[in-house]
Amino acid sequence: MCRASETPFERIEAAIRDFPGWMAQQRDSQLGPVVIEVREAIDKLEAVGGEATRRFEKAGGYRADGSLGMVPWLRTHGKLSAGAAAEHVETARQLEKLPRTEEALARGEIGYQHAVAMARTAEHVGAAQVRKAETMLLKAAETMDPGQFAGMAKNFEHQVDAESALSEANRAHQRRYLQIGEAINGLVRIEGQVAPDAGAIIRTAIEPYAKPSKGDERTSGQRLADALVEFCGRSAARASGNGHTSRAGQAKGDSANGAGPRPQLIIKAAADTLAGIQGAPAGQLEWGGTVPAETVRRLACDAAISRITGLGEFEREITHSSRTIPPPTRRALVARDQHCVFPGCDRPPPWCDGHHLVFWADGGPTKLENLGLVCGPHHRKVHEEGWTLKRKEDRWVATPPPLKVAQRARSA
Ligand SMILES: [Zn+2]
Ligand SMILES: [Zn+2]
Repeated sequence: MCRASETPFERIEAAIRDFPGWMAQQRDSQLGPVVIEVREAIDKLEAVGGEATRRFEKAGGYRADGSLGMVPWLRTHGKLSAGAAAEHVETARQLEKLPRTEEALARGEIGYQHAVAMARTAEHVGAAQVRKAETMLLKAAETMDPGQFAGMAKNFEHQVDAESALSEANRAHQRRYLQIGEAINGLVRIEGQVAPDAGAIIRTAIEPYAKPSKGDERTSGQRLADALVEFCGRSAARASGNGHTSRAGQAKGDSANGAGPRPQLIIKAAADTLAGIQGAPAGQLEWGGTVPAETVRRLACDAAISRITGLGEFEREITHSSRTIPPPTRRALVARDQHCVFPGCDRPPPWCDGHHLVFWADGGPTKLENLGLVCGPHHRKVHEEGWTLKRKEDRWVATPPPLKVAQRARSA
């Protein structure tokens, strides 16, 4: 029963209090409509929020607490990022001039993200232009997801005003950036934004490296991150033309085989670290940041990937040539293995490192019988993740670490 004194929000609050009990009675497989109804309710409330935002801004209500504008006010009180707050305020302003769009949002015919795209278009070409085509645009919005609709709205902008579409694209281009942070808590944060054509180039370049292999347990985000690293590593190798490394192309097929020179990651590591002795210090990267001993061993495994400094006495004992795979051996390795040897993996030689089955610092020779071609993610498995890779009568066998069983049991 609802009393006349109740505000709509009190009624919504009351309904929200009923949800836990009601949800407990719903069958998991039947929750699809619930997900959709929640989305629709949020979209309809956005219409109310938009109108409130606009009226409150016009009245200057935000000044009461010293805020300099509606965006900072909404950011603080509405728990929104600066970008999201600006989007809400701008959408609210534009929808005043597009009442039919606002009504469609309030009725749930279009989603909030459709309304944002409409508002953005109005901001770029003027609301009057959008109003002329509003029927057509709203009809399209009803059948397209917001991503498709934003593309269509961009097209419309272009038709209306090619010049303003271009200047908008140029303004967007100005906002491009890429930030590669310091290593914090063992990770380097990378973030940025680029124009759509630049994004497409990056995507096209790295996507081949991101394909999942058989039984690949990586998330798509992890695969893309690995792919970016692989791509940069391989292309830096092509660009460097550094003949010092073992993959210096000799035969003409070598560049296709990934036998071109590889990037020289410079790592400072103690001999104890390289030997995998317990308690040895971590490896120091030239760019700052540390990596664990097992990572140093992986990066040092194929001498083409990295240069290790700070080994002292050890450096003289293990000569450069004893750990560098000579080009003829590399070619023989590629001819024998043809792709990553990890069972089920078929990543091609250009994406592979030469892994020493017995690590060279432990006395393993840099000879064909002690080498195996492994791709980046699988090379990591055999070093950092403790897998064992063995060659038995021309067949490769990979064995997971016993610890994995224990870990699985723990997390189960
Ligand atoms: Zn290795
Ligand atoms: Zn592999």
